[in-house]
Amino acid sequence: MLFCSWTIDDGTETVEALRDILRTYWGYDDFRPLQADAMRAVVDGRDSVVVLPTGGGKSLCFQAPALHLPGLAVVISPLISLMKDQVDALADCGVPAACVNSTLAHGERRRVADEIRGGRLKLLYLSPERLMTEKTLAFLKAVPLSFFAIDEAHCISEWGHDFRPEYRMLRTLKQMFPRVAVHAYTATAPPHVQRDIARELELSDPAMLVGSFDRPNLIYRAQRRDNLLRQIREVVDRHPNDSGLVYCIRRADVEQVCAALAAGGYDALPYHAGMGDGDRKRNQEAFINDRAKIIVATVAFGMGIDKSNVRYVVHAAAPKSLEAFQQETGRAGRDGLDAECWLFYSDNDFNTWRRLQSELPPQAFQVAMTVLKGMSDFCSGLSCRHRAISKYFGQDLAAENCGACDVCLEEVDLVEDSLVLSQKILSCVVRLKQKFGGDYTAQVLAGSREQRILDNGHDQLSTWGLLAEQDKQSVRGWIEQLVGQGFLAREGEFNTLALTPEGRRALRGEVVPRLAKPAKTRKESRVATASWEGVDRGLFEALRAWRRSKSEERGIPPFIVFGDATLRELARYRPSSLDRLRAVHGIGEKKSAEYGADVVAEIAAYCRDNALPLDVDAPPGEGVERRQRQSAAGDQSGGSPSRELAFELFAQGKSIDEVRQATGRAASTVADYLGAYIAQEGVCDPSFWVEEEVFERIRRASAETGLEKLKPIFEALDGTVDYERIRIAVACLRNAAPASS
Ligand code: ADP
Ligand code: ZN
Repeated sequence: MLFCSWTIDDGTETVEALRDILRTYWGYDDFRPLQADAMRAVVDGRDSVVVLPTGGGKSLCFQAPALHLPGLAVVISPLISLMKDQVDALADCGVPAACVNSTLAHGERRRVADEIRGGRLKLLYLSPERLMTEKTLAFLKAVPLSFFAIDEAHCISEWGHDFRPEYRMLRTLKQMFPRVAVHAYTATAPPHVQRDIARELELSDPAMLVGSFDRPNLIYRAQRRDNLLRQIREVVDRHPNDSGLVYCIRRADVEQVCAALAAGGYDALPYHAGMGDGDRKRNQEAFINDRAKIIVATVAFGMGIDKSNVRYVVHAAAPKSLEAFQQETGRAGRDGLDAECWLFYSDNDFNTWRRLQSELPPQAFQVAMTVLKGMSDFCSGLSCRHRAISKYFGQDLAAENCGACDVCLEEVDLVEDSLVLSQKILSCVVRLKQKFGGDYTAQVLAGSREQRILDNGHDQLSTWGLLAEQDKQSVRGWIEQLVGQGFLAREGEFNTLALTPEGRRALRGEVVPRLAKPAKTRKESRVATASWEGVDRGLFEALRAWRRSKSEERGIPPFIVFGDATLRELARYRPSSLDRLRAVHGIGEKKSAEYGADVVAEIAAYCRDNALPLDVDAPPGEGVERRQRQSAAGDQSGGSPSRELAFELFAQGKSIDEVRQATGRAASTVADYLGAYIAQEGVCDPSFWVEEEVFERIRRASAETGLEKLKPIFEALDGTVDYERIRIAVACLRNAAPASS
């Protein structure tokens, strides 16, 4: 087997065609790192193993080529919830995809089979168990397949952190479909797991594409825990309307932290394995749909959650490994926008993990303790956090200063006389004959008269009380920092402190440790300031509210309607027309047809009310050129024949149903056309489409609730009038409203 890096010729037609697909369906202008290479491998039919960190955009690596290639792509995924989310998201971008699983009714399954036979489906999601049934295999043998994509591919490796026996069945895939390429995707695979995946799947000469583990948009900070609730609240308060996660070690901690947050008026829900399935599912869905802003959870939460707009992840305690930390913090900022990752740790956390894992078989326990030490060194270490994580995964980071961690942002104040301080601590460890732990050592240095210190006669040591004038927490912290930097080591069952050779050199003054005090001030990270530049926050919030009501109306998560990056661009460029709207990141044809008119109206209304200019600094390459491109690709929205026909018929006062019949479009599409027509033509009288009496009731209700959202009106009318009519009436009322308030 050959492992080599795959280089591409960016000028090829294939890459251009894929880029066009990206624009048309997803509204993205360019590839993320490695995506083009990964897609090329798929188009070329060469087996591949793709390792990209969470949020790196793995799904697109197979979704876009699936649209490009003839035939059906089969995607294997371990979790039903994950499949469903992906299929929903694809449908919202206009990509024909489906999943077949146990939750599907028989009739539904048959419908999917018909779609496949008719060549209308491009992606089919299956679990490994379902794929490997005789029936499914026989069915797939009879249809043209483009390729197999195996998601979460590390599950096939016993070396991976999440081995699943059912993945083992996939070993025979290559033998059964020798002509169909197989592509494996994972976020967490060190080199030996990558090789194992290729071996297990019997891939032939696969392209091995490994991305960077670094997530530059995550801002890492580690701080000792002093007042946990205050520390968490400081993070949450900076994100009053955003989604965030708080991770705790134990269920009891989850309950406690969650209750404390809820008591403080925060919108937090718990999640841990001790809760019933129903409660867990409910809380998870509330979070995904932006109904609950904060989830406080154990590690049980997260697998299969691909919510893209998580703006912060707080660790209320240190996790058990840097892999876990990387994975949990990885749930933040999947949309590529800045997100904060805070780690509040205490030495106790490591004792807790030691205890919790003490039942492991000896060898596994040893491994667990080694990775735990890596985590603890990360906490107290004073080198760039991004670099430390990358290093752990065997990669180097080029940038000297990452601009996105507490160390590089110089939020940690270095102590001036760190050599002298370190020497005092190190020599105290020597005086204690390297037989005591960190807490005890700190007590002695602080000059404590605790009974056991007196009993041991340690108040007689020359180092007793040597740091009495210092804050006790700081002393304790410095000891950890010396451990983290390798000047001290923790030994044995009781974690007694001992000097390392490096520690002895420090004692002789040959090297100087860096000791830090946590600074009081926080600087804005480089990442944070850039991605909010020019964004009108008020409009952003208004659009967020709009997105939420849209998502409720449609029964899909808000981030599927539009990602945060898209909302920010909308609130930055404030497009006044569908043409301009289509230049915005994340808005492809389908989204534009689906939500375009609404969102343009929303923006126009807000800008009018707040005297904000529209069409600010519009991104280059937009407008006409883009629209032409889309029309050439068989556009269904702006300027499409059915839309034009619909507008004509509306002008003649035809009903939605009549227009639906005439255009052959779905009722919901026609309703959206009507919304666009009303907005475009400034129609104030909805009597063609809404009965006068109903319109009057909507008008009266909206006088109370305002015209911003449909839902309050729907509720005020006790659900007696459908959203379709309300939307039409409100569009007209908005046109009728005075130009400024
Ligand atoms: P992964 O599966 O690697 O964790 P996803 O495929 O879920 O990541 O992608 C994460 C987010 O990034 C999604 O919201 C996705 O739509 C977005 N994304 C993927 N590729 C691009 C791209 N080329 N440009 C902009 N956004 C992208
Ligand atoms: Zn850094």
